[in-house]
Amino acid sequence: MLPCSLLQIAPTLAAFFGIPLASPELPARSILDFMNTRDPRPPVVVLLVIDSLDLELYGQFRAELPVLHALADRYGLIFSAKPVSSHTTPAIASLLTGLPPEAHGIVVSADVGTSTFKSILELLDEAGHRTAAVLNASGAEPLIGRMSHIYSVEDREDIIAYDALITAHTRTAVSNKEVQFVLAHLRTIDRFAHRGGDLRLAARVVDSNVQEIARAVHERRGILIVCGDHEAHLPARRALHGFASPISVPLIVAAP
Ligand SMILES: [Zn+2]
Repeated sequence: MLPCSLLQIAPTLAAFFGIPLASPELPARSILDFMNTRDPRPPVVVLLVIDSLDLELYGQFRAELPVLHALADRYGLIFSAKPVSSHTTPAIASLLTGLPPEAHGIVVSADVGTSTFKSILELLDEAGHRTAAVLNASGAEPLIGRMSHIYSVEDREDIIAYDALITAHTRTAVSNKEVQFVLAHLRTIDRFAHRGGDLRLAARVVDSNVQEIARAVHERRGILIVCGDHEAHLPARRALHGFASPISVPLIVAAP
């Protein structure tokens, strides 16, 4: 599995859409080639962040993640990416800005509203590439007024129901023919990892969400990029190796 940096996602998207982005990282050439050589040119790109999906879980739950593995093995490419933060908000901010956490300074969702750095969401939207974000309410709120399509889902105890809503909104956003870029974030694996839940069940749930989203992407002949944001925070694992060497996360780019 080839290495890739999560910081390359935003520069790669900027290069694909032909907009400028200030990042210390270059676009990932193989991903850009994969996207640019599709015929017809993909009219929509979806970036799906699966919270806490790391390469150890990806391998361990191969049987529960058949759709994800098929996207990587049959319909696209897979890379190994070192996490840039062990927390969700700064990690996603890095995915969307191409900047490391110490450069963008975004620690909590509210920082997005005051950040002087524009994310790829706002930059694409400003350049006329209609963009949608499907996020929880606290993540979505700072983006209101900064981009055109925002789908926010209220946080709730039933995280499977929450992800079902995220998936439904993502399908709606993807099937809107004016939308060219969609960001969505699924959280079931993360919640189950933190609470000691059945990770096999969480993986199966997420894989069926990915299947629904992949179907919508297929219908528009678009590109689906799936990645984890950081390693899973599993108490047993942490007891074993602490925070010393975080496990890498998968980055999959597919034309489903
Ligand atoms: Zn996370």
